[in-house]
Amino acid sequence: MLSIRHLSKTYGNGVQALRDVSLDVPTGMFGLLGPNGAGKSTLMRTIATLQDPDSGTISLDGRDLLADKTATRRLLGYLPQEFGVYPRVSAEALLDHFAVLKGIVARGERKAVVEALLRQVNLWDVRKRKLGTYSGGMRQRFGIAQALLGDPRLVIVDEPTAGLDPEERNRFLNLLAEIGEKVVVILSTHIVEDVTDLCPRMAIIAQGQVLLSGEPNATVQALDGRVWRREVPKGELERYRQQMTVLSTRLVGGRTIIHVLSDARPEEGFAAVDPDLEDVYFGELRRHTARAA
Ligand code: ADP
Repeated sequence: MLSIRHLSKTYGNGVQALRDVSLDVPTGMFGLLGPNGAGKSTLMRTIATLQDPDSGTISLDGRDLLADKTATRRLLGYLPQEFGVYPRVSAEALLDHFAVLKGIVARGERKAVVEALLRQVNLWDVRKRKLGTYSGGMRQRFGIAQALLGDPRLVIVDEPTAGLDPEERNRFLNLLAEIGEKVVVILSTHIVEDVTDLCPRMAIIAQGQVLLSGEPNATVQALDGRVWRREVPKGELERYRQQMTVLSTRLVGGRTIIHVLSDARPEEGFAAVDPDLEDVYFGELRRHTARAA
């Protein structure tokens, strides 16, 4: 279990990126969901010991992660948001190089580890190809292979599915789910489906604050009977926005469909819908903006 307690961080320019963040993250996939600028990367980099918080603590199974950074880095694997690769080097050669950096110096052992990881992420057949020829999805799977070097107990992946096509995204998420069977995996994302499809637990974060944490299903059930749907003429959208809590606006076949949060039917013409995680997410963001205003 990863325990984050009262983590705060203000950057030199005055931006408060984390405000008293506390979270418990058990073994398995944990989704950290939030819009751009929410503080996700700051949190991930802090857990990865790449930057210091102003205050707060992080522990993994009772062990203080910020106290001994070298020891912590041996326990964790990290796939940063901007994961650069050397385009002219083959996947096999670069993974071998990363393995040396991770301290796997014995040749035979390294060879076995590199092979096992390339097979696990399904890149074994293309291991000789230069990384510059890889698709986005292949590069991200390579990123996971390097994050898994040294058998980490904690794996951190920052916005890994942005820019992947649906098939690559699926493949990538399945790979993460397999890894999540044994270790703590924190996946940061602004894509709601990443969490719906994959994460037994999650937190929603905005403006450096945790708005909600729990099991996606339970948070969705809490909205049962409170989400309403209606097709509206484009010109009237603004009126609905002013009068109701509009969760989302979707164009479906050229028509504008809105979801509204309300304890009772907001007006004639609205139909009750089964809520989903997107409703939960937008509902929390709306509540947060309303509170902040
Ligand atoms: P996310 O990953 O959710 O998009 P970030 O952690 O990258 O959020 O950013 C949170 C806030 O902190 C944003 O307002 C961002 O502009 C700001 N920020 C991030 N990194 C820095 C930095 N090194 N210096 C100053 N401000 C930063």
